[in-house]
Formats: sequence, structure tokens, C-alpha cells
Amino acid sequence: MEGFAPGPECALCQGKCCKEKGCSLSPKDMLRTLQERNGLQQIDAGKLRELLLELLNEDEMQPLYAIDYFTTENGPLFYLRMRHKCYTFIGVDAMGECCALTPEGCSLSEERRPKGGRFLKSTPDKQCIQHYSREMMINDWAPYQDALSTIWKEFEPEFRENGIFDRCDAEYFKWMRMQREGK
Ligand code: SF4
Ligand code: SF4
Repeated sequence: MEGFAPGPECALCQGKCCKEKGCSLSPKDMLRTLQERNGLQQIDAGKLRELLLELLNEDEMQPLYAIDYFTTENGPLFYLRMRHKCYTFIGVDAMGECCALTPEGCSLSEERRPKGGRFLKSTPDKQCIQHYSREMMINDWAPYQDALSTIWKEFEPEFRENGIFDRCDAEYFKWMRMQREGK
């Protein structure tokens, strides 16, 4: 596996990192998923947006991934990360628990975990260090900005206007309440 295996401290901590934000994919993670899903040897750049949208829209709005962005000196940098529970593939939710986290830990195999998860090196004091840096992400994701930003610009205003994000927030708070009450 490329990256770091979870340390013994991860079992004790039960995924503090995964409860704050879904880990980030690298484009290699995205392309591998698209290739396997579509039975392709490689992804034609002209088809990327269409295939990505199919992937993000799969499973009745319960996809694995969401588009998110962070701000750089040159504007927003769009990328994929794990979707959060109760939220959509448009990652406006700043924080949230990863949809792949279960009471037993991450439901993905170590090989299937996105690079941001594999490159987070755990430490016993929970000052875990991310080795998939923002600079690496900026370089990696630069060629995919058109495909990701057009999907974001198509769906973000629609979801906002239709109240979908508000409903997701309400669902997430309800889910957190149920967790606290042990339901
Ligand atoms: S990487 Fe760090 S925060 Fe994440 S589960 Fe392991 S010990 Fe906890
Ligand atoms: S995919 Fe696994 S390692 Fe990454 S945030 Fe989700 S539960 Fe954590």
C-alpha cells in the first residue's frame, strides 16, 4: 500500500479525523475508480465530466464522493473527497463525518482509501500528520478544474435554491442527536 497503515492508536481513537472531514482523493484515486466502474483502460479527457457526473449521481444520491474546494492565491481549487453522511456530492458542508466510517472503523480496504487517508500518519498523541499536502493537491488537481468546477456551478445554485443543503443540515443534526442518544 502506498502511504501509512493505521497505527494502534487509530483503533483507540475510533476515527477522530474521519468524524471531522472525509479524506481527500488524488486524481489517481478518481481515475482508477472511473476506469474500473466503466471497464476502461484510460479515461478520455473529453468524457471525464460525463463519467464523473455518473459516478457522483450513482446510488440515489448516496455516492461515495463529493466535490469540495479550498481557496488558493489563484482562486478556488476543486477536488474530490469522501462524501459526508446525510450530505450530497456538492460538498458545501465544512465539517461532517465520512460516509464510509462505521463503528468498526473505515469500511474501505486500506488500498481503497483515498490518498488523504492513506497519507495521514497517525501518532499516539493524535497530532497526526498529513503528508498529502495542499501544494501536492494544487498540482495534482490543476488539470481537472474544468470538469469539477462546471459540475459544481451546475448543481450548487440549484441545490441551494431548492433547500437541499438546509435539509441535509437538518438530517445531519438529527443523525448526530440519535448517535448521542445511542439510537
Ligand atoms: S489518524 Fe489520527 S485522528 Fe485519525 S484515527 Fe488515527 S489516531 Fe485518530
Ligand atoms: S474513507 Fe476511511 S479513512 Fe477516509 S475519512 Fe472515510 S472512514 Fe476515514
